[in-house]
Amino acid sequence: MPLPELTSEEYQRYGRHLLLPEVGLEGQRRLKGARVLMVGAGGLGSPIGLYLAAAGVGHLGLVEFDTVDRSNLQRQVLHGTKDVGRPKLASAIDRLRDVNPNVRVEGHEVRLDRSNALELVKAHDLVVDGTDNFATRYLTNDACVLAGKPNVYGSIFRFEGQASVFCTADGPCYRCLYPEPPPPGMVPSCAEGGVLGVLPGLVGTIQATEVLKLLLGAGEGLAGRLLLVDALSMSFRTVKVRKDPRCPACGTREIRELVDYDQFCGVPHAAAASTAAPVAEILPAELQARLAAGDRIDLVDVREPPELELACLEGARSVPLSGFEAAIAGFPRDRDIVLFCKMGGRSAKAARALQAAGYTRVWSLAGGILRWSEDVDPGVPQY
Ligand SMILES: [Zn+2]
Repeated sequence: MPLPELTSEEYQRYGRHLLLPEVGLEGQRRLKGARVLMVGAGGLGSPIGLYLAAAGVGHLGLVEFDTVDRSNLQRQVLHGTKDVGRPKLASAIDRLRDVNPNVRVEGHEVRLDRSNALELVKAHDLVVDGTDNFATRYLTNDACVLAGKPNVYGSIFRFEGQASVFCTADGPCYRCLYPEPPPPGMVPSCAEGGVLGVLPGLVGTIQATEVLKLLLGAGEGLAGRLLLVDALSMSFRTVKVRKDPRCPACGTREIRELVDYDQFCGVPHAAAASTAAPVAEILPAELQARLAAGDRIDLVDVREPPELELACLEGARSVPLSGFEAAIAGFPRDRDIVLFCKMGGRSAKAARALQAAGYTRVWSLAGGILRWSEDVDPGVPQY
């Protein structure tokens, strides 16, 4: 396919690129002819989308099904306050078209899964992964290996980030680095652990840089290296990642089709629900009624210290999950114990630990403090 020509408007727009020997007219035409699949229009997807659109990547496929929430705005700079409540896809497309109307942004309002991933990946030159969960990360990786397309990876947590390029012709893939996902609940999400707002800006910008280098064939890419970013110490270092001949995706090639990643990664609603011990839940309204009736309940907040000053429930004592095991012996056996956290995940984990220690009168507050605020007391701030 011949490379597309630039219009006179594009000569002006991309003038600073055209001056670079590594880009030049041919490189800019190459960017215009490129098709990039962006998975996610959130924290990482924001700088990725903004910079790829501004740089003149001709076709951006965008996979996103979420809605803009107020808590996104601290880092997801694609979206604005006026977009709260809108589909992220619509909000992102509006913004990217404003940045550069020459770019065709094609939206896919779906959750990437085994039924659609391969087809979407095959229709693009490369994939840039801006997701925040293991199921989609492994899925994206495997689809890229099967389709033979590079996968520009990034991830973030608190003040730390990672980036690499996987699935190039000779390079390793994500499974070469992490053959197995961590057990469910082992790695807290950013919604639980927090993240510095600029961190996805930093890591997503690195991903966008790698995308442009791949498309231009310029410089030395991150394939075979994992970049580790620590924003607190402001240090950047790279470690070698080798292609693993035993990797089931790119080594032995025993993965010939996409699997059920919810099962593989132990996503709570699928695998964990059937394998982990069930935990009894109590609804906020029910708990409120029992407390109002004067029931003697040991109400325990398992959130970590910084969260305690944001919102709390009256009468609760604090036993952070990080020190929970050591505190188990001190729990009463002669009354009901109700555990809560922000959303219900950590309190379920704590409830399982008590059950394993022989406690039977244990409940986890369904939906945590957020649902308490919704159902019972809007005076409790949501964070
Ligand atoms: Zn591999």
